[in-house]
Amino acid sequence: MFLPRRLRGKGRRKDVMTLTTAANTSSTLNERKKDIKEDGLNLQDFISGDLSEKSKLRLPPWLKTEIPIGKNYNKLKNTLRELNLHTVCEEARCPNIGECWGGGEYATSTATIMLMGDTCTRGCRFCSVKTARRPPPLDPEEPYNTAKAIAAWGLDYVVLTSVDRDDIPDGGAEHFAKTVSNLKERNPKILVECLTPDFRGDLAAVEKIALSGLDVYAHNVETVRDLQRHVRDPRANFDQSLSVLRHAKKVKPSVLTKTSIMLGLGETDAQIHAALKELWDAGVDCLTLGQYMQPTKRHLKVEEYVTPEKFAYWEKVGQEMGFVYTASGPLVSSF
Ligand code: SF4
Repeated sequence: MFLPRRLRGKGRRKDVMTLTTAANTSSTLNERKKDIKEDGLNLQDFISGDLSEKSKLRLPPWLKTEIPIGKNYNKLKNTLRELNLHTVCEEARCPNIGECWGGGEYATSTATIMLMGDTCTRGCRFCSVKTARRPPPLDPEEPYNTAKAIAAWGLDYVVLTSVDRDDIPDGGAEHFAKTVSNLKERNPKILVECLTPDFRGDLAAVEKIALSGLDVYAHNVETVRDLQRHVRDPRANFDQSLSVLRHAKKVKPSVLTKTSIMLGLGETDAQIHAALKELWDAGVDCLTLGQYMQPTKRHLKVEEYVTPEKFAYWEKVGQEMGFVYTASGPLVSSF
């Protein structure tokens, strides 16, 4: 249920470079056409050499950011590869990676780890994760190995997330819960956030995770009520997500609940206000609002780049409503 909101700049340039190289080398015209079609570019774009993102809004200056790379970053990256762990931070090219992984004397070192593979059983229109009806089976050793690796890594805060696994009876809830309990056994001080799927509304699955020893239960509503069907897989919806968040709080009141909303998908201010009110009424503690970024041409277009001032406005609204924590900004990620 994670949300890889790739920053378009570098990712898209790479897509274009790959296609350009293919066009100049061995692939046949038909193959090229297929490549082009699959990426959503048309042949005329290639002939004219104009591969700019015509239909897209121009990236505003506040989103043109370089990913900071520090000493700690490289060290952690190498460790990750040795441990064979995959992070959303890297997959999504998150611009905050240097800051998050850096930690330091006073700051908290954090990362987001993906469980249950890289293939999702759903197909949300904003998400570029691979999809399949029957992804490969779960690795039964993953909860143990992941916990061991994270504990060795020395993080202060970890976010465990996953794709949706509607092919598994409990949606992978047991797998999630085992990872948390193994991790807490090894390092009781580490703070653990689980960003979970909706488990098709299966509250027993939600409960399993809420009672696993985690500190923050996160589940994203992703967008306002009226855009759910347009943005998310049809199996997801606002009420189902609210019930997940409400149930986690009910069975474990000391756990913080958290959700995220992407802005820039065409939602109105009134719809955002209504969503925040419903989340508050459902007992959600923490709220994040960030800019939606289109991962590829096949995904939903960005309707608007919301200004930093407008994000600041929503942060104030969240604070005034009484959320324990509201983070709202163009580069605020949902994980
Ligand atoms: S449920 Fe949707 S957002 Fe989550 S990983 Fe699957 S396709 Fe992406």
